[in-house]
Amino acid sequence: MAQQIPIVDYLVLDDPAHLEAHACSSCSALYFDRRNACAKCGGVEFVRKTLSNDGWVRAFTIVHRAAPSVPAPYTSVVVDLDGGGAVKANLLGVTDPAEITPRLPVTLEVFVAGTDDDGVEAVGFGYRKRKELP
Ligand SMILES: [Zn+2]
Repeated sequence: MAQQIPIVDYLVLDDPAHLEAHACSSCSALYFDRRNACAKCGGVEFVRKTLSNDGWVRAFTIVHRAAPSVPAPYTSVVVDLDGGGAVKANLLGVTDPAEITPRLPVTLEVFVAGTDDDGVEAVGFGYRKRKELP
């Protein structure tokens, strides 16, 4: 298997891949970036927290104009994760607003976003509509 690196440091490429946040030890506020202090309570102790791979679309926009190397249209979403946390990402495989319902259930999906000259793969993430239960 090719060597892989995550495109952001809060994407952890374990099996299964998942997101991790810094959780404030005092108030449980979540941050993807490293903080010296919690913006909510001023606490300075943080622990790593594994976030759920499942969540719900809170908001979306369909982007029709992008940089020349970025395929468009694509759907940008804010996902509220089960158990806490919210993340911005793309909704994979959907660009028709009629397919996006309020609180659409989604799940994390990783993909190879690019490969360098040494064969190292950069792995990105997005969200895909969760399969309907029978
Ligand atoms: Zn806090």
